[in-house]
Amino acid sequence: MNGFTLSLRFFLIKHKRALRLWGIAVLASVLLITAAAVAVPIIQNRAAESRSPWTEKPFSGVREPLRLTPHTPYGELSVRHIRTMSETLYSRPPFTYRELDAALWIVEELLAMGYAWDDIEVQEFTWEDVSRMTWMRWEQMDSWIVGDVPRRRVSQNVILTVPGPSDQIIVAGAHYDSLPVPGASDNASGTALLLESAQRMLGQDNHHTLVYVFFGAEEIGLLGAYHYVRSLTQEQREAILFMVNADVLFEGPYLLYMAGYLDIQETPYRDMRLGDDDFTRRWRGMAGALNDEHDFELTPYWELFPNSDHFAFMQEGYTVLFLFGMDFDEHGNLHMRVVHTDRDCYHYIQETWPGKIDANMRAFSLFLEEVLLARY
Ligand SMILES: [Zn+2]
Repeated sequence: MNGFTLSLRFFLIKHKRALRLWGIAVLASVLLITAAAVAVPIIQNRAAESRSPWTEKPFSGVREPLRLTPHTPYGELSVRHIRTMSETLYSRPPFTYRELDAALWIVEELLAMGYAWDDIEVQEFTWEDVSRMTWMRWEQMDSWIVGDVPRRRVSQNVILTVPGPSDQIIVAGAHYDSLPVPGASDNASGTALLLESAQRMLGQDNHHTLVYVFFGAEEIGLLGAYHYVRSLTQEQREAILFMVNADVLFEGPYLLYMAGYLDIQETPYRDMRLGDDDFTRRWRGMAGALNDEHDFELTPYWELFPNSDHFAFMQEGYTVLFLFGMDFDEHGNLHMRVVHTDRDCYHYIQETWPGKIDANMRAFSLFLEEVLLARY
């Protein structure tokens, strides 16, 4: 024991009480600062959550709608929407603010064409709501999916209901999100097809109730579609007749449609095929008549194509009609040329395959309208 230790000991004994009080004070401050560091972001997050873009956004100054007359050729409105999305709403990755911008634009377009706020529902969902449905983790959503676009933990489906005299529902869907590319074909094309159809429906007498769903977060595993089907009430589930999906409408020269339900055979192994029913036979008849009348080449695709939002509906037992425009390689397999690259751009595709966008959108537009207006 040396002298210094002794005097320290003396000091400690003399000031024991004061030191204990100081210790308590320091400990209390540390706890308070820690609590504040945890609580403040939570409170800020709460405040951010409550500032929903869907209540604060003033939708009153909505723009003029695209002009639609009885003589406007089918597909023309779609092409203009595709150009707008490719030029100004390019790169709409799932769970980002760019995806939100595209959703806001869709709502503005629906209001501009004459629908009321009450006809539209924005179904928000958080990453936590849907993360169980994908193998992807939040941290893994890196450059190929979101690029450097600012991320948010919320995505959304935009839902427009157009009532008809029949309560039976036809769901027409298309996803509006994209990878960090212009996404003209994938999937401004399907989004635009739905917008044109909705605008034309204002001047039509639809028999069935039509529900247009603009899905978010498709590119990371059909998450918007899965969230939609899982949030249906029993009554809604029973009212749905079938689902039509549009995704990638001018990736190649072929105008394809896949029609069917998921027919699962358990023998001798689990085999999933397309089942045929009255709906699919009816649609093939419509496509054939349109081909004869307009010289289209709407072509049935007989294999199961699971990689888009309709598959969420097939898994629930619904019959679906999937519209897509692709190419085949020399082995007869589907072949992608521009999808998921920077070439999936309105101007690139117009220059590379002149007239393709217009031709495909015209055919799909007419086909979709026929499917939606028929009585089943
Ligand atoms: Zn897509």
